[in-house]
Amino acid sequence: MKNSARDLLASYIDALYPIIYINHFDFKVIDDIVSDIVDGRKVVEYNNGLGIVDFKTKSMMKECDLFNFLKLVKDDGYEHSLLIVLKDVHNQLDSPEIVSMLKYIAERNLYNESYNASIFIVSSKLSIPEELEDLITVFDMPLPTVIEIKSIMTEFTKDLDIDVSEDVLSEISLSFKGLNEFQIKQILNLAYQDGGCLDFDDKQLILSQKEQLIKKAGLLEMIPVHETIEDIGGLENLKEWLYKKECIFNQLDKAIKFGVDIPKGIMIVGMPGCGKSLAAKATAKLFEIPLVRLDVGRLLGKYIGESEENMRKALKLSEAISPCVLWIDEIEKAFSGVGGSGGGSDVTTRLFGQFLTWMQEKENTVFIVATANDISKIPPEFLRKGRFDELFYVDFPNDEERRKIIEIHLKKRNKWNKELDIISLVKLTGGYNGADLEAIVKDAIENCFIEGKEHLTTEDLKTAQRNIKSISSTLEKRIKEIKEAVKDMDLKPASNPENKMAAKPTSKRPVGQAGGAAIMGKSIAGMVNPAFWLKG
Ligand code: ATP
Repeated sequence: MKNSARDLLASYIDALYPIIYINHFDFKVIDDIVSDIVDGRKVVEYNNGLGIVDFKTKSMMKECDLFNFLKLVKDDGYEHSLLIVLKDVHNQLDSPEIVSMLKYIAERNLYNESYNASIFIVSSKLSIPEELEDLITVFDMPLPTVIEIKSIMTEFTKDLDIDVSEDVLSEISLSFKGLNEFQIKQILNLAYQDGGCLDFDDKQLILSQKEQLIKKAGLLEMIPVHETIEDIGGLENLKEWLYKKECIFNQLDKAIKFGVDIPKGIMIVGMPGCGKSLAAKATAKLFEIPLVRLDVGRLLGKYIGESEENMRKALKLSEAISPCVLWIDEIEKAFSGVGGSGGGSDVTTRLFGQFLTWMQEKENTVFIVATANDISKIPPEFLRKGRFDELFYVDFPNDEERRKIIEIHLKKRNKWNKELDIISLVKLTGGYNGADLEAIVKDAIENCFIEGKEHLTTEDLKTAQRNIKSISSTLEKRIKEIKEAVKDMDLKPASNPENKMAAKPTSKRPVGQAGGAAIMGKSIAGMVNPAFWLKG
């Protein structure tokens, strides 16, 4: 990582970028990189808390305010090739005097051939004064590539004399993607303290670190997932498709090396309460990757450009924590108003464009699951072939699917028994969706308990059914509209018309890799002492 960051930063200086804003929290990492590019230049450092600091030894040289420091060094650029390092000064960038001083130095650097001084502003907070916008270049520390991650891991295992197979190294390094060097070392350290080794189970530690990133940023929502693909009754075509992709996501490194195209995502449209959200959750569980929800409403900001910046950050974050499932629920609402006129619509249109471009160009392991009821409100560009790998249509469950859904919900509550005449209930529930059927089961069990009965009977279920109206009858008009909107579209039915069960792939998991549930093997709590290897 250091090499790519160093080369990039050196190229900025050579290209006479006058002020480089390094948006990073770890000053040690930045100091190392700056030391690598010094190349005979004089380095002067100012730290908001300490005043003037010796760049090499980090000892305090003189208490001083930023304005006077800049005044002191501003003409040094005539005598030396100068690097001015300013740390944690983001709060002072609204002072007109300081802005003028920075501008003075930056302009000398640009227009005066006998002057040479580059300014580095290093801070984890980005705050760019309008007056300096054109002179400042933001430098986002590049995150380590998979090769760099591998070398961090190799260095770690060598230092501690741990044996790690090539398979583990490759698979884990891919999971680390999106984390910075500090975070990677922290997790390696935790993993080592816990088990004295590195193995596939450490993916769980990586996941928990990624969860923290999401929480801190507040732009995406991490959804805890308990639902499995077996919890979905019916939708066998969709399940079969997902089973195939599972094989890729569970051994991403191998798949990529083999030349497999990484799946982009799916759109699931159709009737309410029929398992679309359930499928989004079950996908993440099946692929053993985190599920994050993008709520476009949450990104909307008060200031000009704020929403777009939030969208950029949210998409970057999803890449950072990838492989992951990025779930956009009710996408028709998220992007409603696209193409319309007026302030709100303009912002939505821009966000939509931004999202489409990202989707088009994306070459990452973010798997998108977009769910929607009403396809007529979705901009057609979104549905064009090539955006998603597949567009699925979810209809009301057929007889066999209703039987399975009822069975799933009875079994979930330990109330399944062979005496129950589910078929007769199936016959009564044409037009009911999955959520209605679940409600019947729930109500029947609750009543059975309240009445002090020991066993649930078919009659209990039928009584509950009589009290619950199907969604098709309560939302008749709406359902018609949804059907009308999809009728001419090229959508693949999520259900299999012959109710053929989806074929599960035979397991091709790398040897030693645990399944979804078993992956929790390592405990995360109480293992926090990252310092020992970081210092080493
Ligand atoms: P909406 O469009 O209103 O958001 P949805 O299609 O996303 O609806 P879900 O949230 O997935 O519907 O379903 C609601 C609940 O109904 C689920 O949590 C699940 O308990 C039950 N359910 C729906 N469909 C199925 C199904 N095919 N199999 C099992 N349970 C189902």
